Amino acid sequence: MRRSQSLVPTLREDPADAEALSHKLMLRAGLVRQLAAGVYVYLPLGQRVLDKVNAIIREEMNAIGGQEITMPVIHPADIWKQSGRWEGIPEMFKLQDRYGRDLCLGMTHEEVVAWLAAREIRSYRDLPQIWYQIQTKERDEARPRSGVLRTREFLMKDAYTLDPDPAALDRSYAAHERAYRRIFDRCRLRYWVVQSDTGMMGGLGSHEFMAPAAAGEDEIAICGGCGYAANVEVARGVPVPPAFPAWAREEVATPGARTIAEVARLLSIDPRLTIKSLLYIGPTGPVLVLVRGDQTLHERKLGRALGGEVRPAHPDEVRQHLGAPAGSVGPVGARVPVLADEHLKDGVYVVGANREGFHLRGVSAGRDFDCRFADLHAVTAGEACVECGKPLGVEKVIEIGNIFKLGTRYSVALGATYLDESGREQPIVMGSYGIGPARIAAAAIEQLADGDGIVWPWPIAPLHVYIVCVSVKDQAQRDAAEAIYDACWAHGVEAMLDDRDERPGVKFKDADLLGLPVRVTVGNAFVKEGLVEVRSRKTRHESRVPKDKVIDAVHAIETAEART
Ligand SMILES: [Zn+2]
Repeated sequence: MRRSQSLVPTLREDPADAEALSHKLMLRAGLVRQLAAGVYVYLPLGQRVLDKVNAIIREEMNAIGGQEITMPVIHPADIWKQSGRWEGIPEMFKLQDRYGRDLCLGMTHEEVVAWLAAREIRSYRDLPQIWYQIQTKERDEARPRSGVLRTREFLMKDAYTLDPDPAALDRSYAAHERAYRRIFDRCRLRYWVVQSDTGMMGGLGSHEFMAPAAAGEDEIAICGGCGYAANVEVARGVPVPPAFPAWAREEVATPGARTIAEVARLLSIDPRLTIKSLLYIGPTGPVLVLVRGDQTLHERKLGRALGGEVRPAHPDEVRQHLGAPAGSVGPVGARVPVLADEHLKDGVYVVGANREGFHLRGVSAGRDFDCRFADLHAVTAGEACVECGKPLGVEKVIEIGNIFKLGTRYSVALGATYLDESGREQPIVMGSYGIGPARIAAAAIEQLADGDGIVWPWPIAPLHVYIVCVSVKDQAQRDAAEAIYDACWAHGVEAMLDDRDERPGVKFKDADLLGLPVRVTVGNAFVKEGLVEVRSRKTRHESRVPKDKVIDAVHAIETAEART
C-alpha cells in the first residue's frame, strides 16, 4: 500500500456535522464516507479494520463449534407473520415484489433460523447446533447518528443456538459469553458484561457487553463494591432518603408553581420531599405514575411493569381523567389506578392536589391513597447498590454485543421441533447472540484516541506500520524506505509507505491521525548516520535503529503493547 496510490482521503479539519469523537476521526482518517443518513461506504482502511475484527470473531466462534452460514437480506413476510413480529417494529424496512408479495429486509434472523431448523433438524441426535453469519442488517432508524454507532445499514455477526432443553441452552449461552469475552479482550477493549432488558427479542434472560465511551448512547449502573452492573433500563438502586418532617396533612396554595423545582422553592423544601405525578396511557388505559420529585421515570421500566407499550397522556387526556392540568395532578382522590416507585412506600410527601394552584403536604402512600409499587425510576449516580449498599456509578457506554436466551418462542411459532429419546416431539430451545464489528472499531477509537488522532490496538489496526519517507526526491531515502516496506510485508508486518511529495509535517500529522501502531521515519538521520526512527504511536517512545533492525524494533513494540 503506497500512499500515493491509495484511497485514504484524510481531512485536516473536523467535519462540521460530526459530534462523536469516533465519527469525527473515522471521517478525518478516511475510513468511511456517508452516502445517506445512516448509510456508509467503508473505504480501504475502514474495510481492513472490519476484516481484522471479523477474523477474530470467526476464530472464536469456530472455537466453540460455530458453523458459518449466510442467510438472505430479503425475507418473505410469512415467517415474520408466523412469529408475530410482522407488525409493531417501526424499524423494519418493508417492501413488495412485482407480484405484490410482502417482503422485508432482515434486521435479525431468528425467523429464518427457526424456518431452517424446522426443515433440517429431526432428532435429539442433531442437537446442539451453533449457526452464525457475518452479514448486512437493515434497520429504519428514526434518528441515525453518531457516525457508525447508529446506522440504518450495518454489518453484524449474529449467532443462533439450537438446544434440546433449557439446561443445554444454559451451556450454549455460557460458551457464547466466554467467546465474547475472548473476542473483546483480543480487540483490547474495556467493557462490562451487564444484565439487560430482553426488549423486542422476548425470552428468558439476556446480557449486554458494554464498552465505556463518551459517545455511548446507553448507560449502565456499576457498583465499585461488589461488581454489580446493569443497563439503567433494568438497574436497581436505593435512593438516598431525605429527612422526613412531622407534617400534618394539609392543602397549601402554590400559585403559579408547576414544576417540581418551582414547588420546592415556593415551599422552601428539599425536592426529595415531593412526588412527581405523571399520567400515562398503558395497555389497559390511563395510569397515574409516581416517582420522587428529584428522579426520572424510566419508560422501559414502566412498560415492563404495565406489560406493554406506554406513552405520556396528552394535556387534554390529563384534564379529562384527573380534572386538573398536568402541573397540579396527584394521587389523592385520583379516579385512575396509581402505580408508584417502590421507594415511595415510606415517608411523607408534597403532591399535586388535583386542583390548579394547590398542593397537598404530608401525604403518605397507603394511608392517603391506594397504589401498586414497582421499580420505576432511572438509577442515578450515588444511589446505593441493591446488593451491597455501596454507592453506584453511572457510565455512558457503547453496546458492542448482546446475548439472549430466547427459549421456544420462535421454534413453536415456526414449527421447529425435534424427536426426543422417547420419540416425543419437542420444541427446539433457541438462543441468539449479536456483535457489531463497526461498533467494536468505534469503541476502540473512543477509548484509545488522543489529541492527535486514532491509536489502534495492534490486533485490529488496519495496518501495523506507517513508513514516512521524508524526502521522496532523495534517492537514498527513497530506496531505504522501499526496502523497509518490502521487508515488512515479507515478515508479515502490514505496512503503508507514505511516498507522497508532501511536506514532512503533513506526513507526520497523517501518521498520527491514522493511528497505525508504529511509525518508521526515513529522513536526515538515515542520510547522515544510516539510522531510521521507529516510534510507537501509543507511547510515543522513539528509537533509532539501523535499517536492517527495523523489523525487530517493530516486533518489540508489538510485544510491549500486548503486555499492557
Ligand atoms: Zn454493590
